[in-house]
Amino acid sequence: MRKYCEECKKEVETKVVTKKETYDVCGEAIEVDAQVLICEECGEEFYYEEFDNATLIQAYNEYRRKHKLLFPEEIKKIREQYGLSQRSFAKLLNWGDKTICRYENGSIQDKAHNSLLLFLRRPENMKTYLAENEILLDEKQKKKLMNIVEKLGKDSEYQLGIRFFGAFFSGTPCEENGFKGFDYEKFCAMVLFFAHKSTELLKTKLMKLLNYSDMVFYKENGISISGLKYVHFPYGPVPDNFDMLFGRMAADHIAHIEVCYDNGYEKHQVIPECDAPEGILSDAELKVLERIYEKFKNFGSADISDYSHKEKGYNATKQGEIISYVYAKDIQLD
Ligand SMILES: [Zn+2]
Repeated sequence: MRKYCEECKKEVETKVVTKKETYDVCGEAIEVDAQVLICEECGEEFYYEEFDNATLIQAYNEYRRKHKLLFPEEIKKIREQYGLSQRSFAKLLNWGDKTICRYENGSIQDKAHNSLLLFLRRPENMKTYLAENEILLDEKQKKKLMNIVEKLGKDSEYQLGIRFFGAFFSGTPCEENGFKGFDYEKFCAMVLFFAHKSTELLKTKLMKLLNYSDMVFYKENGISISGLKYVHFPYGPVPDNFDMLFGRMAADHIAHIEVCYDNGYEKHQVIPECDAPEGILSDAELKVLERIYEKFKNFGSADISDYSHKEKGYNATKQGEIISYVYAKDIQLD
């Protein structure tokens, strides 16, 4: 990117460097690795809104990790599993009207509020809460909520699903999963997005598309989309426990792999079984998927594999090792 440098008094080439910056979050100094744009000739720093925003989000997320606070996305999920609007959820909790809205949009929540949300994440706890507190919802809403809580508690599939994923996929945000617990719904939505866009999507290419989407989204927002961990395989980064995930998706009739033969070569094709769901991925997430799709749409599986072999994260890890999202900052797509 070329910019006008006030120091050099001319248009110059710029470059991106990483440096330590300290932000004040809730009165605490939080240090982050910020990306900044500088003049290639004199080193003068430019203001670049996109990086500035990303750094601020990073600082907030760092603060959340440090204090073990729920991420905005997680708060939204808790509310949505009970089918509540932001306003009725706030009412139910006896909080101010706009409180939930602010938390879901990135404000840092109060510690006590965080504990209550964490507690209410489990349907059986919500049941206790409803029984022991005066509920300010109207009768109709209350009844609807009770039904959902009953259903969530009884739904053996739901319970099984939690145990299944809990055993293999870490729910705790960390560097390896892009600071996000694994989100099966988002993962399925990503697979369906790419499977419907492409005329033919091979399994090996899909894995690279998933990896780039998660890494690029992480680079720009400080959090991954799916919460998947990626492992260093001979032909590039691959989601951890990929075969099991695909088995589950096939059992749920979301998508499956079909093996076909093309001139004697075995091809593993991804076949979608339902439409891409609406409302699961945010606009920002969809935009990243769109960019990744466009970038690689004319790449064959081998081309994209070669391309991903050049990434720093891939080169810094050995076979079978997890490629941390820390390396996302080194990905340059254009
Ligand atoms: Zn300059």
